[in-house]
Amino acid sequence: MRFSRVLRAGAVAVAAGLALAACGSGNSGSGGGGGGGGGSNPSLTIGIKFDQPGLGQKTPSGYEGFDVDVATYIAKELGVDASNIDWVEAKSADRETLIKNGDVDFIVATYSITDKRKAEIDFAGPYFVAHQDLLVRKDETSITGPDSLNGKKLCSVTGSTSAQRVKDEFAGKVDLQQYGGYSECLTGLESGAVDALTTDDTILAGLAAANEGKFKLVGKGFSDENYGVGLKKGDTAQRDKINAAIQKMEESGAWAAAVEKHLGPAGYPTPKPPAITEK
Ligand code: GLU
Repeated sequence: MRFSRVLRAGAVAVAAGLALAACGSGNSGSGGGGGGGGGSNPSLTIGIKFDQPGLGQKTPSGYEGFDVDVATYIAKELGVDASNIDWVEAKSADRETLIKNGDVDFIVATYSITDKRKAEIDFAGPYFVAHQDLLVRKDETSITGPDSLNGKKLCSVTGSTSAQRVKDEFAGKVDLQQYGGYSECLTGLESGAVDALTTDDTILAGLAAANEGKFKLVGKGFSDENYGVGLKKGDTAQRDKINAAIQKMEESGAWAAAVEKHLGPAGYPTPKPPAITEK
């Protein structure tokens, strides 16, 4: 209906439509996945976490963390100014859907590269390797690592590799509670509703540092979590550009500076960046 009216409307309307499309600084409207496109003021919509101090956190003054810095660096390399980034919350369970629906151009949100996820989306990277670990209350003495979890109540987040690993490797031994975000798990840990929170050591270190004196990181990592930038399946041109941006960030020293700035205060040592495998 709308389409046929446009067809009948003649050359003037068509020209007007083209002009509109050309100057739209629209987010994901351009075929190239935003950014870099022809517009004079290109923008990007990027998914991050909102509740992970040191990684992706929404604060009264803006968005902060290592993932935010990585995303901002990539955007700059794609020709997009930081002020033209629209930040969208990408909770663990929502990430593939956000990408597939085109709600975001890409996601930088402690997003582990896995074969299961790669069936639905593509990754660039990895740009960091974290390790699944345990966070407990400061006075906890009975949980000392992954082999001391029998009969314990563990919290993790729906749709995360952390929750999946508990289901795969600790089935029948632990009581897994799945919440929607890590901040909810932390509330449960503080109140005593759960005995430990399990996910990447980066996230746990950030949460511990932001809540000084309340929690401690067990520090016995039991997985490798290769963080990738999630993007639409088949968009190899965009993936190549993102990989080049990651490489440049690492070689320029900006990567190490961002790790030190955001994870250093939580006591997280700066590792070596991993080799890029998603090509
Ligand atoms: N890196 C893990 C994952 O991608 C856990 C952290 C998270 O939920 O973002 O599932």
